[in-house]
Amino acid sequence: MQIAVFDDYRVGVVQADSVIDVTNVLPAALDSRPRDRMNWLIEGWASYVEEVADVVRRAQNGIPLTDVTLRAANPAPGQLFALPSNFHAHLGELGARTVTKGGRTAREQGFFLKAASSVVGAGEQITLPKGSSRRFDHECELAVIIGKTARDVPRANAHEYVFGCSGLIDITMRLEPGEFEEERSMRKSFETFTPLGPFVVTADELGDPSTLSAELRVNDQIRQRAAFADMIVDIDEAIELISSVTTLAPGDVIAMGTPSGVGPLAAGDQVTIEVERIGVMSLPVAERALRAPRSY
Ligand code: MN
Repeated sequence: MQIAVFDDYRVGVVQADSVIDVTNVLPAALDSRPRDRMNWLIEGWASYVEEVADVVRRAQNGIPLTDVTLRAANPAPGQLFALPSNFHAHLGELGARTVTKGGRTAREQGFFLKAASSVVGAGEQITLPKGSSRRFDHECELAVIIGKTARDVPRANAHEYVFGCSGLIDITMRLEPGEFEEERSMRKSFETFTPLGPFVVTADELGDPSTLSAELRVNDQIRQRAAFADMIVDIDEAIELISSVTTLAPGDVIAMGTPSGVGPLAAGDQVTIEVERIGVMSLPVAERALRAPRSY
């Protein structure tokens, strides 16, 4: 199934060019905290899947996707993990701007965290700090959405913990060579710096994500191409790694790292990620109205 979050964080199943609203399978109490609906649906998926399928079967017609505002594939993940240096061709391309020294990969470096509040959806926009002279890069990535609580999961069993996958753009304020080294988690945590979407495609429908490819375009110019078979740490190893450190919860997101071709975004750009079998997400880049208290 392809599951979308839209408008006031309603949840729906995508069929062709429309979405069938299945929000009413969830407890009405969630109407007071709608951003949590997707976490609730994922955690209870085994008990909801038949009812969801039944609503879809009985639906006369859905809402055209062009008539809704798509939100992040999961608008409120509890945790947002990300892998650095997970494609050989990306190693070294940042020169002095990298924090991953000496050609080390995600296998040696492990993961970092982005603020979960940095996620944004396919129907929204990316906002850069106002008046900044810094470099803000796009990174074209596969997102894994965790389906079940995972702690100390061996890689051989890791696939059982994947709810599904989505597309993800990991936007990053780069280090300025010679300047102080600002924390990576801050540079990647600006609100809207993690577009996640357009939908979650459930693991059963997606098949093996390592066979898929992706492309990232800026203003229709191709900047990045990814073959997920080239990932150094694959999804199973990533779940083994992260769950050996802490507990992964349903709805948590893992950004799997970027291939080569990262490059700058500026206000006025349109950035598009297209992941095979998952879909296309295209967001405009704008500037915040409010100037930050320190210059970024
Ligand atoms: Mn990244």
